[in-house]
This record gives sequence, C-alpha cells and structure tokens, in this order.
Amino acid sequence: MIAETATALGLAKQISDFVKASIGSRDEKISNEKLAPVLQQVTELQHSLSQIEIAMMKVERENEVLKRELQKQEDWKAEKARYKLEYFPTGQMAYTLKEPPEGQIQPVYFCMSCMDNDNRISQLTYYGGNSLTCRHCNLWFEYKPSPTKALRPKIRGGVDN
Ligand SMILES: [Zn+2]
Repeated sequence: MIAETATALGLAKQISDFVKASIGSRDEKISNEKLAPVLQQVTELQHSLSQIEIAMMKVERENEVLKRELQKQEDWKAEKARYKLEYFPTGQMAYTLKEPPEGQIQPVYFCMSCMDNDNRISQLTYYGGNSLTCRHCNLWFEYKPSPTKALRPKIRGGVDN
C-alpha cells in the first residue's frame, strides 16, 4: 500500500511539473486560465497522498507491533503445551512437565497461578516436607496431607477440618 501511494505521489508530481511548465508556454492551445485550477487540484492531491502515506506508515508500525505480540502469544501457547496439571491428594494443583528431563529424581512443579494469570513459569519450592511455595506470588499449599492430620482419627458424622 505504501508503494502504491508513493507511485501515486510520483505521478502527481509529474503532472504538477507538466502543468507548471505549460503555464509559461507560448503554446496558445493551453490557456493559463484553464491550467491554474488544475495545478491547484494537483497540489491538493499531492498533499492528500502525503497524508495517506503517513497514515499507512503508522498502520504498518502498529501491524508490526501486533505481529510481535501475536508471535509472543503463540510462543507462550507452545511453551505451555509442554506442561500438564497434576492433582494432589490435598485437592491442590500444580503444573509439571509432560516429559520431565532424564535423571530427574524429585518431581518438579510449577505454579499454576503464575502460569495461568501472568504467563510466567515459576518453579515451586519444596517447603517443610509436605508443602510447596512460589517465590513470585507467595502461593503456599500442602501437596500431601500433613502427618498430624493424617494421624488424627476421623469421627463418624463429624466435620473434618
Ligand atoms: Zn506463583
């Protein structure tokens, strides 16, 4: 579109140059009175095309920004596809790699809140033997029932807290 606009601007300039040259001509077939309004129109055309060119450059810059943003989102979508949600016995959830690296001894978990809300991969840190915590959003949860709760006898019909 910018190339077409530049071409149109070039043509308008050629017409303008022709008309300017014709105004001083001694050729009686071209009357200066007829050419003067045409020259004014051509000048206006050049101005309009210049405005179009500026607008097109702005649109092109915005388009580049949007393309980069779209690419970023597609990259994130591809990255996130490498993870799956894991559900813990406590009812909590965290992401883990679908294909963990070879030789990984302890499972590695990633914060669901950071990944889903902030498009950020934040590895959870093991804490106190039965908890996981996120250093970015300070999320903390028990991924396995605490030993004291597990040992507490359940009372039939009572409320388990
Ligand atoms: Zn987090």
